Amino acid sequence: MKIAVINSGSSSLKFKLFEIPSEKVLCSKVVEHIGEKDSLIQNHFEAIECLHVNFTEIDAVGHRVVHGGERFRNSVLIDDEVIEAIKDLIPLAPLHNPANLEGIRVVRQKAPNIPQIAVFDTAFHATLPKEAFVYALPYAMYEKRQIRRYGFHGTSHAYLLQKAAQLLTKDVAKTNIITLHLGNGASACAIKNGKSCDTSMGFTPLEGLVMGSRCGDIDPAIVLYLQNELDFNSDKVNTLLNKESGLLGLCGENDVRNIEKRKDDKAKLALDIMVRRIQKYIGAYMVVLENVDAIIFSGGIGENSHYVRESVMNNKILKNIRSFVIKTDEELQIVNECLEVLKK
Ligand code: ADP
Repeated sequence: MKIAVINSGSSSLKFKLFEIPSEKVLCSKVVEHIGEKDSLIQNHFEAIECLHVNFTEIDAVGHRVVHGGERFRNSVLIDDEVIEAIKDLIPLAPLHNPANLEGIRVVRQKAPNIPQIAVFDTAFHATLPKEAFVYALPYAMYEKRQIRRYGFHGTSHAYLLQKAAQLLTKDVAKTNIITLHLGNGASACAIKNGKSCDTSMGFTPLEGLVMGSRCGDIDPAIVLYLQNELDFNSDKVNTLLNKESGLLGLCGENDVRNIEKRKDDKAKLALDIMVRRIQKYIGAYMVVLENVDAIIFSGGIGENSHYVRESVMNNKILKNIRSFVIKTDEELQIVNECLEVLKK
């Protein structure tokens, strides 16, 4: 059988076709610059057209959907009601959910009879206990305004859990690990008995670890200071925190390969700040989990940077904990989720 995975973003569309059960990748394509001025591809329909995919040969399509809110705790077969629910969640992910919906709409148009499955970035964290996901704001902000920790990178953390359990030769349901997805976006997850019980990204993917260009945790009052004392409007604050901070803001670039080679103080400080933040989360999650079977490094930095991994683990408290490097595969996880949904 053949299962396609589509990650439809606002200006790009990634497509991968898998053969199952061999898990062989039959085709992998990326269309970029969708809708940009002077681009030959003006919308997602044209993007799918230029993939030259014969949909009659495909048995199911899995879509990455960024935000599933509180409603979607698992992957689901897409129908009209699911589409409406994903639309309702647009205020929580204004950049991502509309683009994800475009991908779904276009495939429906081209191939109305193929089952389509939505796989949510947030769903793996649906098991977070309330004490982990409610912020210490007035409770009505959660109850009435849906402001809470959702967590993201769920497909990656879920994949890493499966692989880690295999390496540890343990049942998934008995596996206690800390997973570190360290790419341009980065998040940590505390997994207790096979379930996400805390994670570093929050209401949005901005919270938590130091990322390529996102600041991660900061004192929220800095935002007020920027607005009140430095006359930043919300657009400027948004750009500063999401696009001009993190490693890029600290040392002028976010490619860890280059930063590692540099000898200057700013480069060293940027890596030190990133490493220390990762260690703080590991420390916190060790207390949450009580028993930690292993720490898992993944994502472009986690998989490739010996320096970052060594620096994180070079600590008396961590020296007796096992650590593994696992190459994440979010697309394959989406395929596996599709198979689960189709089985039902
Ligand atoms: P994204 O979140 O965009 O998918 P990736 O998971 O591809 O990001 O990770 C990108 C990061 O991985 C970049 O900071 C890049 O510098 C880093 N990286 C990739 N290869 C290496 C390497 N060999 N050594 C150190 N860092 C690396």
